[in-house]
Amino acid sequence: MAIEKRVPGARHQVNWSEATESMTYGIVKLGDAVLEKKAAPVTNFDEELKKLVEDMFESMYAAHGIGLAAPQIGISTRLAVIDISFKEDPAQKLVIANPEIIHKEGKQRESEGCLSIPEFRENVTRSRKVKVRAQDINGNWFETEGEGLLARALQHEIDHLDGKLYIRHLSGLKRDLILRKVKKLQKAGEWK
Ligand SMILES: [Zn+2]
Repeated sequence: MAIEKRVPGARHQVNWSEATESMTYGIVKLGDAVLEKKAAPVTNFDEELKKLVEDMFESMYAAHGIGLAAPQIGISTRLAVIDISFKEDPAQKLVIANPEIIHKEGKQRESEGCLSIPEFRENVTRSRKVKVRAQDINGNWFETEGEGLLARALQHEIDHLDGKLYIRHLSGLKRDLILRKVKKLQKAGEWK
């Protein structure tokens, strides 16, 4: 999920940071089939997964996001990272593997954006509070609760794992308008 004010970042390029040896992935954009596909469960909680999670956080921060799902870097697996504090508070870094929403309540309607649909934002109605069951980086199941922005991020990222973008929650009219604008950008070669 994108934060409110995005600074145009260096996307679509792979950057190696020598200090951490982490890698920044380019973000896949609307139009790529991987974003519309139901992702497969995470099965191996190994070193490779830990590296992937680290790279996902780096990629998310580089793209000025507060949430990123694996399909958004072209990996169709049920894994997402969230940090609504955007680097301010390490305790808020959240990794969810094979997540499911087990309880939801209330409603909230706020402006929402997505790193895979840059430059667009729309109001989306979501549950105000959710409880999620997921596996952590070691494969241990845990439950976490989120309200407000965190609840929104959890719902947005879990949607990604089911091949669902936030524009699916919009009216047909608003969704078509965005799709038409994106098509124009694609034709102009400005959507890669
Ligand atoms: Zn998104």
